[in-house]
Amino acid sequence: MVVEVDLKPLSIKGLKGKRPLIMAGPCSAESEEQVLITAREIAALGVPVYRAGIWKPRTRPNAFEGVGSVGLPWLQAVKKETGMLVSTEVANVKHVYEALKYGVDILWIGARTSANPFAVQEIADSLKGVKIPVFVKNPVNPDVDLWIGAIERINQAGIEEIAAIHRGFSSYDKTIYRNSPHWQVPIELRRRIPELPIITDPSHICGSRELIYDISQKAMDLNFDGLIIETHHQPDKAWSDAKQQLTPEGLGKVLDRLIMRDPDIDAELMLTLAELRDNIDKLDDKLINLVEQRMKVVENIGTYKKDNNITILQNKRWDDMLRSRLILGERKGLSEDFINKIFSAIHQESINKQTRIMNED
Ligand code: PEP
Ligand code: MN
Repeated sequence: MVVEVDLKPLSIKGLKGKRPLIMAGPCSAESEEQVLITAREIAALGVPVYRAGIWKPRTRPNAFEGVGSVGLPWLQAVKKETGMLVSTEVANVKHVYEALKYGVDILWIGARTSANPFAVQEIADSLKGVKIPVFVKNPVNPDVDLWIGAIERINQAGIEEIAAIHRGFSSYDKTIYRNSPHWQVPIELRRRIPELPIITDPSHICGSRELIYDISQKAMDLNFDGLIIETHHQPDKAWSDAKQQLTPEGLGKVLDRLIMRDPDIDAELMLTLAELRDNIDKLDDKLINLVEQRMKVVENIGTYKKDNNITILQNKRWDDMLRSRLILGERKGLSEDFINKIFSAIHQESINKQTRIMNED
């Protein structure tokens, strides 16, 4: 079912006037100097929108919670000096008033706020009669209806320029990502509100800068509309989210490497492919976790053998083991050669582990 919303296309132009819309800047504004140095370097790449968190929603208390309103004039200075539009997160009515007073161009609602309909409604009410683009991050939990609900609340307050920001979802399982992308959720959002621009936030999905390019490319392959990428002139010294921030130079490299495919030809195909790949990623994650668990058992066996003076390798055990795996594999349509290779590699690694344990003092 398609959702009824009253949207206008974004008036903000993307990189070189086209797709993708890039937003970049530090996780948090820290000082006037940090904000301005970073902004100059990002503006030199042609990025049209600067981001910087002024109020930071932190998971635990006593962490750095943002510089607060003193940082707003720094964003004004960025705007004046570089011509970039400036954006920040608002989580309550006071933030909205302050941000509007200082001429912030785009507001976004963070993942923890968009999960709370009371908070979103209050923000929406404070925006009545105001003309400003508002971007809505996905709620922390993978619930497309809750995301749509937040978008509808903002839209029903009369805001017509809205985009969704896909920043991944928290999960209890350990994965390589800080927040699992669950691509099927923004894909479902696109199906339900086709005209709504979707901007991916690879920084908060990845949690580490090495993974940013792949997630950015995937978002472009899905024909999403933009990227918001945390960028800091000295990322390792950042006061929040240090591991996931790029330098402006690193950002330039990611943007240069992005391949923009023809959306008309590729979009449908890429959606299906992305869902399939998502499944593969999840299964590989599980595979690695299983192998990790298996190696832990191997370590226990190694210690037990050492304590009881038993040799590492018992030939009969390995023959029996391989034979049973080959039978199981054949039933599942996996070739003898393949099973042989996989289990020989696993067995070899187990022996190496046990040898190390035997040689420990
Ligand atoms: C942020 O963009 O810095 C931020 C806090 O994001 P999120 O709400 O996605 O965690
Ligand atoms: Mn951040």
